[in-house]
Amino acid sequence: MTHATASVKAVEVTGFPLPPPMRRALDLAAEAAASGEVPVGAVVTHGEDVVGEARNAMRGTLDPTAHAEMVALRHAATRLGQARLDGCTLWVTLEPCAMCAAAIGLARIDKLVFGAEDPKGGAVVNGPRLYSLPTCHHRPQLLGGIGEIEAASQLRQFFALRRR
Ligand SMILES: [Zn+2]
Repeated sequence: MTHATASVKAVEVTGFPLPPPMRRALDLAAEAAASGEVPVGAVVTHGEDVVGEARNAMRGTLDPTAHAEMVALRHAATRLGQARLDGCTLWVTLEPCAMCAAAIGLARIDKLVFGAEDPKGGAVVNGPRLYSLPTCHHRPQLLGGIGEIEAASQLRQFFALRRR
């Protein structure tokens, strides 16, 4: 096998309702875009409970690490009172970058569900494919392509407007 993408990619069924945490993550991404941030949203669930959520906030907070996933992980850790998020799922609209993918591993997230792939900045099924490296000590279950069409369209619209 030359590429891991096919094995983690879910079939997108048009009109099929999205899992509520991904629906919420996409709404958070739309909020980000409305604030001039690259539209990415993230939600952390523990069982049925939402324990953390955030959207990109780098520009607004002047914090280059304020990616949606990082902020959502911090919220979840605070809410659960522990640094390790065993038993949690992280839902994010875009394939995580290297920083976020590493943080997701450090947090011991059980399952990572993402929307669109990011061929330029992604580090899960693109670029370094962090969880495939021998130095990676925790590999979450992966599921890609959930909410992909809407997530990709949010990003396209955002960058098209910025290029004007
Ligand atoms: Zn990131």
